Amino acid sequence: MEMVKVTIDGITKEVPKGYTVLEAAHSMNIHIPTLCYLKDINKIGACRVCLVEIEGAKGLQTSCVYPVSDGMVVRTNTARVRKARKYNVELILSAHDRSCLTCIRNKNCELQTLAEEFNVDEIHFDGDNIHYPIDDLSPSIVRDPNKCVLCRRCIAACNEQTVYAIGINNRGFRSIISPVFGRSLNESPCINCGQCIISCPTGALREKSSIEKVWDALNDPDTHVVVQTAPAVRAALGEEFGYPIGTLVTGKMVAALKRLGFDRVFDTDFAADLTIMEEGNELLKRLENGGPLPLITSCSPGWVKFCEEYYPEFIENLSTCKSPHMMLGAIIKTYYAQKAGIEPEKIFVVSVMPCTAKKYEIERPEMALYGIKTVDAVLTTRELARMIKEANIKFTSLPDEDFDDPLGESTGASVIFGVTGGVMEAALRTVADIVEGKDLDKIDYQQVRGLDGVRESLVTINGMEIKIAIANGTGNARKLLDAIKSGETFYHFIEIMGCPGGCINGGGQPIVPSRIKMDLDVKALRAKAIYEEDAQKAIRKSHKNPQIIKIYEEFLKEPLSERSHHLLHTEYERKELYSSKNNKENKKSATAAK
Ligand code: SF4
Ligand code: SF4
Ligand code: SF4
Repeated sequence: MEMVKVTIDGITKEVPKGYTVLEAAHSMNIHIPTLCYLKDINKIGACRVCLVEIEGAKGLQTSCVYPVSDGMVVRTNTARVRKARKYNVELILSAHDRSCLTCIRNKNCELQTLAEEFNVDEIHFDGDNIHYPIDDLSPSIVRDPNKCVLCRRCIAACNEQTVYAIGINNRGFRSIISPVFGRSLNESPCINCGQCIISCPTGALREKSSIEKVWDALNDPDTHVVVQTAPAVRAALGEEFGYPIGTLVTGKMVAALKRLGFDRVFDTDFAADLTIMEEGNELLKRLENGGPLPLITSCSPGWVKFCEEYYPEFIENLSTCKSPHMMLGAIIKTYYAQKAGIEPEKIFVVSVMPCTAKKYEIERPEMALYGIKTVDAVLTTRELARMIKEANIKFTSLPDEDFDDPLGESTGASVIFGVTGGVMEAALRTVADIVEGKDLDKIDYQQVRGLDGVRESLVTINGMEIKIAIANGTGNARKLLDAIKSGETFYHFIEIMGCPGGCINGGGQPIVPSRIKMDLDVKALRAKAIYEEDAQKAIRKSHKNPQIIKIYEEFLKEPLSERSHHLLHTEYERKELYSSKNNKENKKSATAAK
């Protein structure tokens, strides 16, 4: 690698030739503030907060896009630099809705942090304060343009997903981030993944809150409120209470839910085991019957919507299995309702998810059973944290507690659903045992782990060769599906997760400031926590879960039975959503914004 010598604030160091000044400074432990910059996602030099002085260059330069060169001398902390950065933040604040105290991102807003660090005690400019309407028509995402700083991190995140739902419209003071023609997100090809929310430095994007709806249910003595939690939530919820990224807080999470007043605390992991029973057998059936192959997982509603909108020719390849929390919703309102002697109409099911797309998923008509919803509300990991804080529960002091029976028992296989490659590994653990007819010692499938966007492997089970692939993030799914469409490659079984890294990095997870993302690999740390929980579990294969064995004996009879089909499976249909013309317009608008 070609290196160049750079001096920043008097420190001289050799750094790779392709580095920007920001990256070079970071490698020397010199902090340069940023706002529009987001590592690996957005590098456009738009906000001019990262200004520095470079000897020989005219005027101040934006360090996030300025490339280093041999012998370069940089100063990051002169009076001129500090003054210019402060003015730029004041200018942004002058046109910003400054209702910080009531903002969802209060104390976790990158603009607020900069204002504090730059010692902004007065705003010397009168911005053009246009009041924009808030877009809250989407079931998942609320857009408040009044809090937008036009950093375009959301656009870059959406473009990475190759959805192109949002772009920049109008010019100058009237610039606004929105879908084409100022439409609502609900009238765009948005797949509800929430990657824009976790990329946004301010409160301009947030999830559609279900907190009040859940409090109402909890306060109603006639309603039996059941909560379930997805695997990725336990690996991230602690961050909201000061734990280091990658800390597992399963027991404290359960204890907090009990203190919030939920009547039963069940584990979506149980339903992940159920999914493996159904999907593993679906794979074997399709392999025996010659297709349709590849079988593609369907547990990520962001991915399913992407498939419906952009790749409808693959809809028949989607597994017919509902996602785990929808399966558990159906089981709670039938099996559990019968066992507990409670009318399904009196049960209110809440899913705590790392995901904003699940808020959309529960509204899909295909998911209703006998005309009633099987999951009544979805809370993101962030919303659960807000409820715990609102209830004055001292999370860090809580003792660990266990999930309730009978739908709280789970295996290591189900926990790894939270990370890319996890569904594939869990399925292989069960399918291999079924095909070989014995309890194999092999549990770990290292070849499917990791965070690369697309991974593939050949697995041989009892002489049968199964070609598998894994994609995470819909941008990577697109690459994989295009390769299949062109005839370049073929697979028997594919796992696709809508978010980069899988659910550990879902749109409902705690928001990590960009400066921390420069130092830490958030996805890798959360994934490590998930694999730790798997390794600690006494049972690590879905078909060995005693409660899964029991529910088949007592209720479902066998995988893919008539009752299983009725409760646990669905069918997706080709939909004319926002494809063709609208998508082209969105892509044009998003590309123009780059
Ligand atoms: S939710 Fe996902 S698809 Fe929708 S605008 Fe945000 S990033 Fe784009
Ligand atoms: S909505 Fe958020 S991420 Fe998007 S441009 Fe505005 S401030 Fe930046
Ligand atoms: S990957 Fe997980 S968090 Fe992201 S859309 Fe899919 S289910 Fe939701």
